Amino acid sequence: MKTLLPTSTAGSLPKPAWLAEPETLWSPWKLQGNELIDGKQDALRIALQEQQQAGVDIVSDGEQTRQHFVTTFIEHLSGVDFENRKTVRIRDRYDASVPTIVGPIARQKPVFIEDAKFLRQQTKQPIKWALPGPMTMIDTLYDDHYHSRKQLAWEFAKVLNQEAKELEAAGVDIIQFDEPAFNVFFDEVNDWGIACLERAIEGLKCETAVHICYGYGIKANTDWKKTLGNEWRQYEEVFPKLQQSNIDIISLECHNSRVPIELLALIRGKKVMVGAIDVASDTIETPQQVADTLRQALEFVDADKLYPCTNCGMAPLSREVARDKLNALSAGAAIVRQELANAN
Ligand SMILES: [Zn+2]
Repeated sequence: MKTLLPTSTAGSLPKPAWLAEPETLWSPWKLQGNELIDGKQDALRIALQEQQQAGVDIVSDGEQTRQHFVTTFIEHLSGVDFENRKTVRIRDRYDASVPTIVGPIARQKPVFIEDAKFLRQQTKQPIKWALPGPMTMIDTLYDDHYHSRKQLAWEFAKVLNQEAKELEAAGVDIIQFDEPAFNVFFDEVNDWGIACLERAIEGLKCETAVHICYGYGIKANTDWKKTLGNEWRQYEEVFPKLQQSNIDIISLECHNSRVPIELLALIRGKKVMVGAIDVASDTIETPQQVADTLRQALEFVDADKLYPCTNCGMAPLSREVARDKLNALSAGAAIVRQELANAN
């Protein structure tokens, strides 16, 4: 990466109102058939352009072609029955009606490869593509086949690896796995969660990232955060083992969260996507606030390994708020970039 402090987002951006109901998760599509296919591509082009106009360095599809960051991938797999739904507790936080695993998991066809090729055609900038992580996937399903969280996660890791290899071949520069579940199930993360993640990235030559956050700014998550106390030390449980793992980049939440910044010392040596934009609030950060967060992170992360980012996806925000927050991210990164240049 040539630019110092290259900016990016955690992944999702709001969808246009003509494509899906705004400011809603799992929002149903408003188009059908070929109109939906075209509409998704048009939305992807807009999401890319908005990132470019805000000066984002590492761009993404804004997750415009998927309904949800976990469900859409699972919908493309065999072994999952979407009619047969059970209510489970997601990340120990809220109940949701989820599909059932009824047989062996397999990926019969590519999921996002055509979308990734389409994005690759639109830009020469580095692109990042997000996939759900194995542990977060198993937490969004009822398992009536393997009856083992570890084995089901391992099976997902294998199909994620197939998808990731094709994303790499399509020209994706960074493949990111979203693992909010890593902030909840610490013993399992250390026992087998990180091993599953390493299985998912096996043989990849492109860069790899894991995104671990406190979730979208939805009520279930903000209520949960209120129970976490004054210091959020969840990262402390999983960082030591992640530091030893083959993952290149760790994407985490900083601004407005109660994560003690010194926990970043536990992943010394890794590249870090530092969340400098709060996605749970409509208040637009000032460039100075973004710069402050980045300066704090620089005490624990070498400048050439720091990637300014958002805390999480921005799908539930309004387009205007998301746009303003992207601009703030760029402006804040520019301040610190200048300071680093002056210091040298
Ligand atoms: Zn997130």
